[in-house]
Amino acid sequence: MSLLVKKFGGTSVGSTEKIINIAKRIKKDVDKNNKVVVVVSAMGKTTDELLALADQVSDNQDSRELDRLLSTGEHVTISLLAMALQSLGLSAMSLTGSQAGITATNIYGKARIEDIDPSRIEKELLEKDVIVVAGFQGHNLNSDDIVTLGRGGSDLSAVAIAAAIKADVCEVFTDVDGVYTTDPRIVSTAKKLDQISYEEMLELASLGASVMQSRSVEVAKKFDVVIHVRSSFNECEGTIIKKEDETMEDVLVRGIARDISESKITLVGVPDKPGLAAQVFQVLAEKDINVDMIIQNVSHSGKTDISFTVKNEDFKIANDTFLALAKEHGFEDVITEADIAKISIVGVGMKSHTGVAAKMFSILAENEVNISLISTSEIKISVVVAKDKSDAAMEALHAAFDLA
Ligand code: ASP
Ligand code: MG
Repeated sequence: MSLLVKKFGGTSVGSTEKIINIAKRIKKDVDKNNKVVVVVSAMGKTTDELLALADQVSDNQDSRELDRLLSTGEHVTISLLAMALQSLGLSAMSLTGSQAGITATNIYGKARIEDIDPSRIEKELLEKDVIVVAGFQGHNLNSDDIVTLGRGGSDLSAVAIAAAIKADVCEVFTDVDGVYTTDPRIVSTAKKLDQISYEEMLELASLGASVMQSRSVEVAKKFDVVIHVRSSFNECEGTIIKKEDETMEDVLVRGIARDISESKITLVGVPDKPGLAAQVFQVLAEKDINVDMIIQNVSHSGKTDISFTVKNEDFKIANDTFLALAKEHGFEDVITEADIAKISIVGVGMKSHTGVAAKMFSILAENEVNISLISTSEIKISVVVAKDKSDAAMEALHAAFDLA
């Protein structure tokens, strides 16, 4: 007998027909003597529709009322799924986040889970085969209110419950077959991975391979919850996300990601005196603008160039800020480049192998792709290239690192 947590997202529960299919699928697990806790999201685009309803009645919504409204989406799904399971002859019941013992901080709209008391789930599981829990919501004890956990938060609910009840596995069902070596829409030879480590998944998730909410992978890593990402539309094995083991280091590069959400700014001819770089980045911090990659060139005749990237949505304010700063401090120029792509190769094998960067750069050179910024971490190398060269660059790297 195993204890399974299964999470189904909005597309997987998008209609009553799909809910019935999920119930049938869960019945197979119960027939094999497993106990199942199912975590679900709101049906289809319900959360967006509820937000639109709120917009119709108020421009300035009270966050407490908004969270109460949003939480109703998941309430619809848990009751329907519990009824569908019961009509297949299973003993099933639904629980809200609060009933499932999920307590969270008092930040409406993006509360963090503080604790899970699994006693109610565990007690009900003695009698019942399946417990259906509402994802994306928790209970704040101070205000005695429902709070939601941020968009995509049902992933987090599922992983946290799996940790609390010590489930054997947390299966996350989605509309793709698993995690891929790269985006199949860009590189046609992209392949589904059998396994990936938490660290690699976190790097790829933050780079835009948005299969799972990043926060949920962090929690899985912390509590060592094995996640199985798989399709809700077929029974094929998906991708296992788990703690790194020795065999994982045999692979140099696990995946390649592209991020086109940033732009590049270069400050030309910045007087090379102590404290100026600090001042430049302080100004950005004050405006709540995150800087990603930074490079400062060797200084010539007392002047230096500094390049960095910012999110596209922050680009205009960052640029305006620097035009003002340039006047004040006598920079020669501010050059901006919007059509860039950041390409990153990620793999825990880089920890123990050398020459990965050299290989990456020479493949790019062979393909006449110019690199304008570089940054590295223990398991990742990122380069900024021109956006129109990025498809070809990814294709070449994908082949060269044997991912195809
Ligand atoms: N229903 C919520 C959302 O749309 C939570 C989730 O889907 O995970 O963000
Ligand atoms: Mg989701």
